[in-house]
Amino acid sequence: MEFSSKLLEKAVNEMSQLPGIGKRTALRLVLHLLKQPKEQTTFLSQALTNMREEVQFCESCHNISDAAICDICSNAKRDRQIICVVEDIRDVMAIENTGQFRGIYHVLGGKISPIDGVGPSQLNINSLVDKVKLGEVKEIIFALSSTMEGDTTNFYIFRQIQDFDVVTTTIARGISVGDELEYADEVTLGRSILQRVPFEKSFKNN
Ligand SMILES: [Zn+2]
Repeated sequence: MEFSSKLLEKAVNEMSQLPGIGKRTALRLVLHLLKQPKEQTTFLSQALTNMREEVQFCESCHNISDAAICDICSNAKRDRQIICVVEDIRDVMAIENTGQFRGIYHVLGGKISPIDGVGPSQLNINSLVDKVKLGEVKEIIFALSSTMEGDTTNFYIFRQIQDFDVVTTTIARGISVGDELEYADEVTLGRSILQRVPFEKSFKNN
């Protein structure tokens, strides 16, 4: 792609670093910004810079947050004894959208995947096990996608906590479209959060 401007080229190159954005799409977006009032580009770049500089991860559940402790963890109405284990913030958003879950979350930040070089130590697993060891937790709900990596991760965590006084459950399988919680429809996902099954049953049947 030949550019008449180095500035344009640089902007297109940066934009095309984003997933799913090829050079052509990047050029279209950049040209769109050039047609808009200057402020729009300023607002966009400031929002991105502020987000990157100031965003935090909740010290308790590791969810993305504007404060040291996120809104969900600091909400007195949430049941802190029920923890739903999810892969990332998109799952938190999908489950929150159902309005059916009153417990709190634990965001792992991924799934165990040897092929991708992700081991248990790279995920937020220890802090979850610590909460269980402290006896603060009545129930752990596994809500990872039903893939091999999801199953491996569930089972790894289960083995760490099975000797403690905690109930482990999983959201009803077969709920997800494309195996991702974020795409499941709200009614179905909400129902499966309410009708969870004991975790041992879920893997003995497989
Ligand atoms: Zn939190």
